[in-house]
Amino acid sequence: YHRKLQHLILNAPGVKGMKVTPLSRDDLRLTDLMQSIIFKAQEEDIKEPFYVLDLGVLVSSMDNWTRALPMVQPFYAVKCNPEPALLGSLAVLGSNFDCASRAEIESVLSLGVSPNRIIFAHPCKVESHIKYAARVGVNLTTFDSRDELEKIRRWHPKCALLIRIKAPDDGGARTPLGTKYGALPEEVEPLLEAAKAASLDVIGVSFHIGSGAGHARAYGAAIAEAKTVFDAATRLGMPEMRVLNIGGGFTPASQMFDHTTTTIREAIEAHFSNKSGIKVIAEPGRYFAEPGFTLATNIFGRRVRVELREYWCNDGVYGSLNCILNDPGFTVTCSPLACKSNHANPTCKGAGTYKSTVFGPTCCALDTILRAHMLPELQVGDWLVFPNMGAYTAALGTSFNGFNTGVIKTYLAYSNPES
Ligand code: PLP
Repeated sequence: YHRKLQHLILNAPGVKGMKVTPLSRDDLRLTDLMQSIIFKAQEEDIKEPFYVLDLGVLVSSMDNWTRALPMVQPFYAVKCNPEPALLGSLAVLGSNFDCASRAEIESVLSLGVSPNRIIFAHPCKVESHIKYAARVGVNLTTFDSRDELEKIRRWHPKCALLIRIKAPDDGGARTPLGTKYGALPEEVEPLLEAAKAASLDVIGVSFHIGSGAGHARAYGAAIAEAKTVFDAATRLGMPEMRVLNIGGGFTPASQMFDHTTTTIREAIEAHFSNKSGIKVIAEPGRYFAEPGFTLATNIFGRRVRVELREYWCNDGVYGSLNCILNDPGFTVTCSPLACKSNHANPTCKGAGTYKSTVFGPTCCALDTILRAHMLPELQVGDWLVFPNMGAYTAALGTSFNGFNTGVIKTYLAYSNPES
């Protein structure tokens, strides 16, 4: 089974033709691979930051998803990380795609994915992007306002619609979305009536409980709320709704994921079990993107101040590590591994540690990655390696101060989930 999957992934669009290093527990591990790339880079005098994407981790994530939520079709949220090898692998693993713009739709279509596997999941779309979606046959989108309905009526009247509702806010999300999107309860019926009057086909309901959701119960409350919208549509004499979109917000940490998915299964059973033919979909971003990517950054500066070590590395908060500014939960868990650039004790085993500050490359004082973090003694030319760096990292990188941290090379690896 795993050999078949591996074959599929190695031939996936975005992967085929690329070098993919096999990893196994006994043979070659991720840290060995990072180290060998670092040594090779050293020989070639290359100091740019780089990622390694372990495609085997994606296989495990999809396995866990299918086991926990067999009735929920994932539409991977491209915004989270548009790396082509990630998109192509997810496509062959059976995921569909959530796109929010013309460029995202183009990148998914360019992998040979059919437009009926895409939801244009942006409740407020740019007019030219709507026209493009109509042209290429992306026929499912979301809305939460009358003005959006009017744009869709003019430019893509055949598009099926999901009404995006504001999920009840339980304060648990790391990045809440309810202040920006989602119809309020009192807006739902007028919006459904407006869609009906415009002869638009509202086939279901969508919500997003917020990214990096802290509380599984938020899904339960939102699914219950969605059911009231299905009932409202029936009351208004509209065709029966048939799609429930439970959005993103899934965290990959296994305990939280188990808890969340149990809550979702129970809520679907409680509120939708008597509705036959309901299709449930989701838009996970972080869940699939976060765990497979590891980032290596090079230390290009150092200052020693009595007991404190200060380092500058070549990716920071205006690049991959923007999560430090955007996601308060990140810094708490951020713990990079130190990698020496010489061959003697490359992973600093048994070495003493010092209170250290790590800065990003730009001149901005906010560009600070770690404070008072215990690290081994490092030198200019050594590396810091950050695991779990796939979600909202390089995708949000900028070229502020001329450091183009949005474009970082990604090496591919494949760890066999069975080894
Ligand atoms: N769907 C929509 C509409 C979103 O806005 C987002 C994130 O902002 C996602 C899905 C992905 O969310 P997450 O990465 O938390 O799963």
